[in-house]
Amino acid sequence: MFAEAQELFTRLATESSELVMPSTPSLPIAILPIFDTLITSIVQLDPQGYYIAYNRYWATLLRVPHESLHGANIRTVFDPSPHGIQWVDLAALAHRSRSGSVQLSQRLRRHDGSSLWVSLALTTMRDQHGNVSSFLAVMLDVTEQVETEQNLRQRLRELNALRMAMNDIADKLELEDLLPTILRHAADLMHATNGEISLYNSVQQTFQLNSQINMGAAYTGLHDLLSPAELCELHRTREPYLVQQPDHDKDQRTTLICFPLIHNEQLHGILTLGFKAERIMIRSGELGLLHMFVRQAATSIANAFLFAEVQRLATTDTLMDIYNRRHFLLLAERIYIQAQQQHTPLAILMIDIDHFKLVNDQYGHQVGDQVLQQIATLIEQLVRAEDMCGRYGGEELILLLPHTGVEQAQVVAERIRLRIATHAFTASAGVLSITTSVGLACLPDTTITHLDALIKRADTALYAAKQAGRNCVMVG
Ligand code: GH3
Ligand code: MG
Ligand code: MG
Repeated sequence: MFAEAQELFTRLATESSELVMPSTPSLPIAILPIFDTLITSIVQLDPQGYYIAYNRYWATLLRVPHESLHGANIRTVFDPSPHGIQWVDLAALAHRSRSGSVQLSQRLRRHDGSSLWVSLALTTMRDQHGNVSSFLAVMLDVTEQVETEQNLRQRLRELNALRMAMNDIADKLELEDLLPTILRHAADLMHATNGEISLYNSVQQTFQLNSQINMGAAYTGLHDLLSPAELCELHRTREPYLVQQPDHDKDQRTTLICFPLIHNEQLHGILTLGFKAERIMIRSGELGLLHMFVRQAATSIANAFLFAEVQRLATTDTLMDIYNRRHFLLLAERIYIQAQQQHTPLAILMIDIDHFKLVNDQYGHQVGDQVLQQIATLIEQLVRAEDMCGRYGGEELILLLPHTGVEQAQVVAERIRLRIATHAFTASAGVLSITTSVGLACLPDTTITHLDALIKRADTALYAAKQAGRNCVMVG
């Protein structure tokens, strides 16, 4: 229809003398009565954009009475913004083109402020002397198509952002990486101004703040936002929860939405996003998107927990809750190499319980286990955070003390020995006394070229401590 109308006009413009304008047009000129029956807008304009003639549908499209356009200028329906195409631009474009016409989609603004999109074909009309006498515009209302297209494009952009966000979080297996990534993507997807993620501890039934964006320096966690009763409610319903962020500055008021992170019916945490008051009009499409993202985020968090648990089981001795031998040696190797390269001191302590077999024989294996657990706890309390403790064998522990020379290491070893010897071990059998023997070896030592040798040296010293009567420290 549109192409036909345009063709008709082009033909009329070149062939029909009826449409060749007189040099002084009189207003209004009815184009052809049949045009008034069309549901296409047909407009004739003088070179300045004043209406010479227009059909009924044009006034209908602009939602104005038919007569109200008499003497008016089409300029007024063009986008007034500096970036918008203006009537003069279009006229110049048509005028300069080889065919004398131009076709494009144009956004127009009605006088009531609403906007519409038209597919517009503009044809230049010339008089007998070849001068531009008027323009003919044929316009089809394509608002619906354009808006649908824009919505689809927007949806596509959002889905693309969602896909990228999901890929990004699917890559992350460790919680420290995963949680800030989830928060950043959620905030980006929703254009949130601030937010946080708190993890739920199901044993203590508490929420622990993990990551935050722009929550303010004083913010300590969900308890700042929600009362215990509200937290309970959120926990019970597991539905998104709306809350006003307490803020003294009215302009800065933020509305927060808390999204429970649930996987397999289990609550893993809460993702909270904050929006400035004017942004709270969240489109349902956006919310659907966020629901999808939150589901994926909860799954990723559950996987990260699982991964952390598998990691812990693979690296930790379950009875003593310290590194197992394999993992201790793996980490120790790196620290050893570093110490050798940087010529920094390093100490290895081997700690063995004296006559532990007797404890088992006398009180049973279970009591022996309780003693082992308490010894590990005692030792961990006596060493620094950078020191490393592992279970080397049955009732034998190994300690690595970075940046520690022989004298300092002896002090630490003696402190451990004494602490254990004077500790009243409480077991189901009652209170027990336990002693240990300690062997130690240190870097720098030019005769030591690998970690095994350093450990062997400490082990030999331990053997010497046993030979010396036990409950003592020996240096290798
Ligand atoms: P020494 O002073 O010479 O070290 O004597 P000991 O009895 O401690 O040494 P021995 O090597 O003869 O015995 C070690 C004992 O430690 C034997 C073993 O049953 C016990 N043991 C090793 N691992 C565990 C454990 O996980 N739990 C318990 N309860 N006992 C363990
Ligand atoms: Mg022993
Ligand atoms: Mg032993």
